[in-house]
Amino acid sequence: MATVEELKLRIRELENELIKSKQKQSDAEHHLRPKIDQMSAEVVDSNPYSRLMALKRMGIVQDYEKIRSYAVAVVGVGGVGSVTAEMLTRCGIGKLLLFDYDKVELANMNRLFFQPHQAGLSKVEAAEHTLRNINPDVAFETHNYNITTMDNFTHFMNRISHGGLEEGKPVDMVLSCVDNFEARMAINTACNELGQIWMESGVSENAVSGHIQLIIPGETACFACAPPLVVAANIDEKTLKRDGVCAASLPTTMGVVAGLLVQNVLKYLLGFGTVSYYLGYNAMQDFFPSMAMKANPQCDDRHCRQQQDEYKKKEVEQPKQEVVQDEEEVVHEDNEWGIELVSEVSEAELQDASGPVPDLPEGITVAYTIPEKVRPTEL
Ligand SMILES: [Zn+2]
Repeated sequence: MATVEELKLRIRELENELIKSKQKQSDAEHHLRPKIDQMSAEVVDSNPYSRLMALKRMGIVQDYEKIRSYAVAVVGVGGVGSVTAEMLTRCGIGKLLLFDYDKVELANMNRLFFQPHQAGLSKVEAAEHTLRNINPDVAFETHNYNITTMDNFTHFMNRISHGGLEEGKPVDMVLSCVDNFEARMAINTACNELGQIWMESGVSENAVSGHIQLIIPGETACFACAPPLVVAANIDEKTLKRDGVCAASLPTTMGVVAGLLVQNVLKYLLGFGTVSYYLGYNAMQDFFPSMAMKANPQCDDRHCRQQQDEYKKKEVEQPKQEVVQDEEEVVHEDNEWGIELVSEVSEAELQDASGPVPDLPEGITVAYTIPEKVRPTEL
């Protein structure tokens, strides 16, 4: 006799199969659009890329088609990761590699992307299905596992270094959209060892702040260089993750952070605008602090220190290039609407939006601190 638990599990499996076959049926009914070989700038209603290619005409991006030559790995397909993956898919990225071990739950429905009928499916599987429907030109690779276990970590490293658009080549960018310290550390370790450039993102447990950060191993502070705010605030993550006590989340904050993250990825990959090293978002005061952090020579990660040595060597070898910066066109001084720009943040507000300075290793400073009133623990 099967136990109740076994039967419940079997029901879950059968339900999943039912969902999958329904999805297949709907695919056949809604026949997907055919793949497009070459991105075209032709302005017709049937061209899914016309608005993106218009970025070239507007002088923002030089070569938008290049987006198809890039592979991006998204680790964590939750509130931030799923929206990130959708944006990259809609932008026509060449390849997406998705990593997550979770299943879609009804408790996720306050966020964007997943739908109630997908409850019970693995997040990567459900995401791939939706994304493929949106844009069949994107290549997908999904991994339904936890990257922090030993075997999976080795496999994860292997896919980061070999799962590029052309098999055998590394991916172009790794995006951390995970919700815990351990997974971030795993990504950090892998990227330091491989010299892989990545971006980290996070939303606070109280749902009203978040951040994105670009990490270039050896050059900018890695996740181990600067103690994350969770450590700086002397709060042990384990005490936060209690059964029955769950973090708050808002689709708004997660959507904003995903938007900032993908914007930074597009700027980095397509070479336009200024790429942010660290960009924070404080929803309470609508405050967006930005800063750059150098790598810490005393970093605990040996590969980080090695990358720093290599970076220094490269710096010495390269002749200093004079950076000629185009002066920004002043558009607001004399405008026909008589609009004047004034600083939106007063001294008092700034004071209000700051808190105690965390104890940081030598060489690292913070551009802003966390207000006492709203002290999020970035996870
Ligand atoms: Zn480091």
